[in-house]
Amino acid sequence: MRVTKHMLGKGSPWATPYYIATEGQGGPHVMVVAGIHGKEMASIRAAEKLVELLNQQKLRLSQGKLMIIPIVNQVAYRKRIRGVPDLNRTFPRTKKKAATQPLAAAVFELARKHRPEWYLDLHEANGLSQKDAKVLGQTLITNSGNPAVPTVHRIIKRMNCSIKVKDQYFNIRLRELPGSSRTAAARILGARSVTVETGWSLPKKVRINYQMQIVQHFLREAGMMKTNEVYLSAQVRGVGVT
Ligand SMILES: [Zn+2]
Repeated sequence: MRVTKHMLGKGSPWATPYYIATEGQGGPHVMVVAGIHGKEMASIRAAEKLVELLNQQKLRLSQGKLMIIPIVNQVAYRKRIRGVPDLNRTFPRTKKKAATQPLAAAVFELARKHRPEWYLDLHEANGLSQKDAKVLGQTLITNSGNPAVPTVHRIIKRMNCSIKVKDQYFNIRLRELPGSSRTAAARILGARSVTVETGWSLPKKVRINYQMQIVQHFLREAGMMKTNEVYLSAQVRGVGVT
């Protein structure tokens, strides 16, 4: 398996590294992004940990190509803010429309170039969906009618089986969010497109591990990982991203 590091927007104030792990010829393409909102730390850390695991060849792909951008919005991340304007409203709304922000345009161009069958956007949100149907904490969101829906149900079932505290269960939400990267990937690229939202009120380590587990479930569902072993953050402590 080959892991390469690249720069998006090299030379610009919003430049950010991304990684491509490749195994063999062909196979599925999966894109994972985190940090579209700069203060959603557990999703960012989970994406970084996944890159570490790939670099260490601990997490191995059986086939295909995995693109990861661990911190999309570096400017917002440095200030630990969500981002102004909200980057997740600036992605292209239709095939004919352009992104309204250069970073969103660059992220979307990368997706368009690699044509991912799966697009995962990692976030964090308020509340716990099991206790309050109106909040997005502990949810997987996809667009109504997206081909990812059956898989999302399967992964939620699997996650909830392993979660001991019922309040922390994940639930599915179906919604269209024009300008978001999820909806752009679904509408324009036809990707199976999912937003992962962990609930901020939980301890950070717990949130990181939920994010890591969910991504690995998707990699398995996409047919790019064969092992049943799930790597969590505790297993990779003390290793930096290169
Ligand atoms: Zn977010």
